Amino acid sequence: MNLNDTEIVQKIMTDAGCLIANNIAAADIILLNTCSVRDNAEEKIHNRIETLYHLLKKRKKTTVLGILGCMAERLQSNLLESNNIVSLVVGPDEYRKLPELISLAFKGEKHIAVDMTSIETYDDVIPLCSNGISAWISIMRGCNNFCSYCIVPYTRGRERSRPADTIINEVKSLVDRGVKEITLLGQNVNSYSYESTKFHTLLADAAEAVPKNVRIAFLTSHPMDLSDSLIDTIAQHDNICKYIHLPIQSGSNRILKLMNRKYSLEHYLDIISKIKRSIPNVSISTDVIAGYPSETIEDHQQTLAVIKEVRYVSAFMFRYSPREGTKSYKENDSVPEEEKIRRLNEIIQLQNRISGELNQQDIGKTFEVLVETPSKKNPSEWVGKTMYGKSVIFGNTDGKYIQGDYANVIITDATSATLKGNVVE
Ligand code: SAH
Ligand code: SF4
Repeated sequence: MNLNDTEIVQKIMTDAGCLIANNIAAADIILLNTCSVRDNAEEKIHNRIETLYHLLKKRKKTTVLGILGCMAERLQSNLLESNNIVSLVVGPDEYRKLPELISLAFKGEKHIAVDMTSIETYDDVIPLCSNGISAWISIMRGCNNFCSYCIVPYTRGRERSRPADTIINEVKSLVDRGVKEITLLGQNVNSYSYESTKFHTLLADAAEAVPKNVRIAFLTSHPMDLSDSLIDTIAQHDNICKYIHLPIQSGSNRILKLMNRKYSLEHYLDIISKIKRSIPNVSISTDVIAGYPSETIEDHQQTLAVIKEVRYVSAFMFRYSPREGTKSYKENDSVPEEEKIRRLNEIIQLQNRISGELNQQDIGKTFEVLVETPSKKNPSEWVGKTMYGKSVIFGNTDGKYIQGDYANVIITDATSATLKGNVVE
C-alpha cells in the first residue's frame, strides 16, 4: 500500500513539474513515506532522519525534507520539534497539497497537513508504475475494523471505496501500457463496496476487462469478509491469481477475541477448507503476531497448530509491538520481550520448514512464469512469478525471454524461499 502511495505522490509531484532524482545527492526535495504499524518501522525512519541531518547540514543548496504517511499522521508536530531539518509533515489523505506546501517550504515555512477525510481516494491520480509489468491499484483506503493492536484505522482513517468504473478504466489503461499483472489493493480489500458493486463483482469485471494473458491479484483479505462468491470468482477465472493472503494473527480463540478480529478459529478453518476444495493447488499465506498481551504458552501452541494444519506457503511473522492510542496499548504488555522473540522464532522455524516442504513438492512440475528481471546475484538467471505467487529463478543465458514474457519453466530445485528451474519449449 505504501509503495502504491509513493507512486501516487510521484505522479502528483511530476504533474507539478518535478523530476524524479535517481539519488539523494541529486535531490532538492526528499520525501520519506513512512509506516507506523510496528515500532521498528518507525525506528528506521528516525535513524534515516538522523543520517539525513548530517548529510543536509553540509549542503550548500536548500533541500526540503518531508515526512509522509502514517508516522506523519501519528506524530504530527513532534516530527518538526524533534528535528530541525524536517519542514513538512503530510498525512496519507493530504498528498494533493504537496506541491503547494513544498514551494512554501522553499521559502522557509514549515507546515503540517494531517487532516483525515472520509472521501479522498486519489481516484483521478493514475500512479506512475515503477517496474513496467506489475502494477498496483488502490481500490479502497482506510479501515473500520479496529483490531485492538492496530494503528491503521487511526492513521489512515475510515474505509472508503473508489467507483468501480474508474478502477476498471485504470486497469485497461495499465494494460495499454504493457502491464501484465495488476494487484488490487486495500487494507481490507474484500470489504470493497461501491454503490451496488461488491468486491467479487469488481474482481470478475477486472479479470474480464483484460486479455487472458494479464493476471489479476488482490491484497489483503480479512477472514471475516471472505465470501463464497469471492472463492467462486477466483476459481472461475483462469487469469485471477490462485494466491490468497489471509491473515490469521493467532490460533487461539481467546486471543482472537481480545484482538477484536471478529472471527473464530473454526470459522477461519472452514473458509480455508472451502478455498482448498474450490481452487486446486491454491497458495495461502498469512500474518501472525507472537506474544500479544496475556498470550500463554497454550495460546502460542494453538498458533503453531493452525500453521501446521493450514500449511501456508509463506507468512509475515511479527512480535507484538504496542502502539500508543490503540486499545491493546492500555493492556499490560505481559509477555517479556525475550519470550516474544522465542515464540516468534519457533513460529518462523516451523513456517520455514513448511514453506520448504511445499516448495519441494513443486519439483518436476511445470509452471507458466511471468518474466520479471535478471537475478541480482547472477544476470544470466532471471526471476519470474507463477500464478500461485511463487518466485522462480531460471536460466535465460541467450536472453530469449524479456520482461513481460511468459516462459514455461520446469522446477528442478527448491528452497523455503524460492523455486529454481529450466525453461521448457
Ligand atoms: N489489513 C491487514 C493488515 C495490515 S497491517 C489485515 O488485517 O490483515 C499488516 C500486519 O501487521 C497485520 O496483519 C499484523 O499481523 C501486523 N501488525 C499490525 N499491528 C501490529 C502490532 N501492533 N504489532 C505487531 N504486528 C502488528
Ligand atoms: Fe489493522 Fe485490523 Fe484494519 Fe488490518 S483489519 S488494517 S489489522 S485494524
